[in-house]
Amino acid sequence: MRFSFVAVLALGLSSLAGAQSTAHWSYEGKTGPLNWGKLDPAYKTCSEGREQSPIDIRGARLNKALQPIEFHYIAGGVNLENNGHTVVAEVNPGSYIVAGGVRYDLVQFHFHHPGEEAVKGKLSDMVVHLVHKSAEGKLAVVAVRLMEDQGSPNAVLAALWQHMPKTEGAREKVTEFVNPGGLLPADRGYWTFMGSLTTPPCTEGVRWFVFEQELSLSRDQLRYFAALFKMNTRPLQELHGRRIEADE
Ligand SMILES: [Zn+2]
Repeated sequence: MRFSFVAVLALGLSSLAGAQSTAHWSYEGKTGPLNWGKLDPAYKTCSEGREQSPIDIRGARLNKALQPIEFHYIAGGVNLENNGHTVVAEVNPGSYIVAGGVRYDLVQFHFHHPGEEAVKGKLSDMVVHLVHKSAEGKLAVVAVRLMEDQGSPNAVLAALWQHMPKTEGAREKVTEFVNPGGLLPADRGYWTFMGSLTTPPCTEGVRWFVFEQELSLSRDQLRYFAALFKMNTRPLQELHGRRIEADE
């Protein structure tokens, strides 16, 4: 059991940040977010960092020099993993974005309920974090906020939820090709700022892009996820003078 737990962590965001971490953490109680920084020396950025995520987005400044993010997403195979904190969709190579002149390859995407990034204090019902990595190892996360709308199931979620691994450590292969572009809103206006991973080890230096437009999911889709992950959201973090910029 211990081996599989460590293996699961090694496959998660921790490996993207190059950190080796084994301390158990959770979203409530003694191992919850307020104590993450004390659970393991490798997690100290969670409490000492000055550019932590998620944040409340308000007071954004227009930066006309910001370019639209170029999305080059393709349909491909997806493996789902329940890592005990969320479900992670690991995608086959080939999908990437270009942002600020840098190419970042899509590595995985995953979900939080309720959403993590707030807009003027308001959280969405869920958020999908699309995690990208450049050749130099820089991380860029695209966040899409999802709101419940009974009439509008999301097609990508419909495909994924059919193959949901329900227990910690479980993995499932999605039998149909999935295009992560189905998780992007029509309007690509965004806010951008520097932040961190929102889970231990809370590594900083992550470029965040949060879409202004929300996407719909159905009540059933939301309930299905919430039944497995009741609350997997880190509380809002201090801005500490960071600038939030908007592209439009
Ligand atoms: Zn996340």
